[in-house]
Amino acid sequence: MSNAYPKKLQLHIDGEWIDGEDREVHQVVNPATGETISDLPKATKADLDRALDAADRAFPIWRDTPVAERAVILHKAADLMRERAPEIGRLMTCEQGKPLGQAIGEVTASASHFDIMAEEAKRCYGRVLVRPAGQNSFVKYQPVGPVAAFSPWNFPIFTPVRKLAPAIAAGCSIILKPAEETPASPIEMIRCLVDAGLPSGVVQIVFGDPAEVSSHLIASPVIRKISFTGSVPVGKQLMKLAAEGMKRTTMELGGHAPVLVFDDCDIEKALDLTAMQKYRNAGQVCVSPTRFYVQSGIYDRFVKGFAERAAKVSVGDGFGEGIEMGPLANPRRPSSVGDMINDAKSKGAEVMLGGNRHDKQGFFFDPTVLSHVPLDANIMNDEPFGPVAVMRPFDTLDEAIEQANRLPLGLAAYAFTNSLRTANLIGDKIEAGMVAINNLTVSPGDAPFGGVKESGHGSEDGPDGLKAYMVTKAIHQA
Ligand code: NAD
Repeated sequence: MSNAYPKKLQLHIDGEWIDGEDREVHQVVNPATGETISDLPKATKADLDRALDAADRAFPIWRDTPVAERAVILHKAADLMRERAPEIGRLMTCEQGKPLGQAIGEVTASASHFDIMAEEAKRCYGRVLVRPAGQNSFVKYQPVGPVAAFSPWNFPIFTPVRKLAPAIAAGCSIILKPAEETPASPIEMIRCLVDAGLPSGVVQIVFGDPAEVSSHLIASPVIRKISFTGSVPVGKQLMKLAAEGMKRTTMELGGHAPVLVFDDCDIEKALDLTAMQKYRNAGQVCVSPTRFYVQSGIYDRFVKGFAERAAKVSVGDGFGEGIEMGPLANPRRPSSVGDMINDAKSKGAEVMLGGNRHDKQGFFFDPTVLSHVPLDANIMNDEPFGPVAVMRPFDTLDEAIEQANRLPLGLAAYAFTNSLRTANLIGDKIEAGMVAINNLTVSPGDAPFGGVKESGHGSEDGPDGLKAYMVTKAIHQA
């Protein structure tokens, strides 16, 4: 499979594909080699103003387009994505590094979000309230207005589709700014929407300096809703900007997912599932299983079994045959992960596997397992966002729940147990937006996805994800 990548990339503004011309550029790097592969044009302030104006003009046209017509276009875009998935996935592997099969799978899974939201929007029923004869009160849901959406580099298609699909299905216009590191695959997703017949200005894609683009778009009175996936500090910064204009926000920020493994569980199943999932996308996943709390009676067996499985993960260029884990996505990741591991070691953690940068070009890091990691190690408190599992033993259910809840974050949490009582208590008492018990599936598409505490607010996916792009209106007739 070729790793050819477009030498020049484009913005899509006001129905037009725009070349770099004399704009500043961001250099796109292949994380498997560290080499620059393309120049990405950065939008100027005039470009952003043009995009805002186009989003403003497109909104009433799209809002007033019947929902069935919107659905036809979204289904067509989904079909185009499935057709083009091999090529879009190939671009994603070039720019993000994940194994090709996983990249193509991300594109096809994302296409289904357009299908889900196309149908969900048809069923966004309001309510008729009980009133005396001759009077009527209704509750209706209406599209919130033009949206500004910001998505990260770990899932270049899957994170933006969770914003694009509901916004477009609801009748909003949307300006997307994906991460500059991984631009070509989201550009091709936008091309699918444009080729499917979406009217000009309903969807636009821009890149630039992230802080400049977000502050400009969020400050504009045109934008009525902000959706962001990324880190907690940036999420807080964007919320402050949004507060100035009292704008609605959906914030999908980091997690540090606990995995509670009880001694009554099916240990082989728990090991097979968690060891496979931990190293998916090199651990750069906001719901990655990371803090393993394992009941004392099975602790040594679990750590050994996990390290044995992790040692078999084949690491290399995402285009390689049988590769299961690619490089980290950018040079910031290996240095940040390495610093966290060194800090944990200096505080007494035992390295059961890995712990080092791979001795290759690019941004590779070894699958790593740390045992008996002290609670004051940075890695027990800050999300490593890399291929590292950290483990500690526990004795009682209460202790496990307390440990799971000890951080200010609460996105995903996992548990393995065959006790119904334990499963029920875990489901109720863990402070997280998603809890998976005896499995690791937390984003099936039809269920709410989002966090509590500093992991953010608002849900993506399913009916809740659609409502995030709508406002509620009461109409009273006498
Ligand atoms: P970062 O905090 O600078 O950036 C995170 C994301 O936000 C990137 O996609 C970036 O392009 C974007 N961003 C940064 N500043 C922005 C701004 N002012 N306006 C709009 N967007 C902005 O750091 P990073 O090095 O890219 O990632 C560091 C950490 O972020 C990771 O360790 C992880 O904890 C978190 N992260 C979370 C997710 C997620 O899926 N929730 C995705 C990527 C990164």
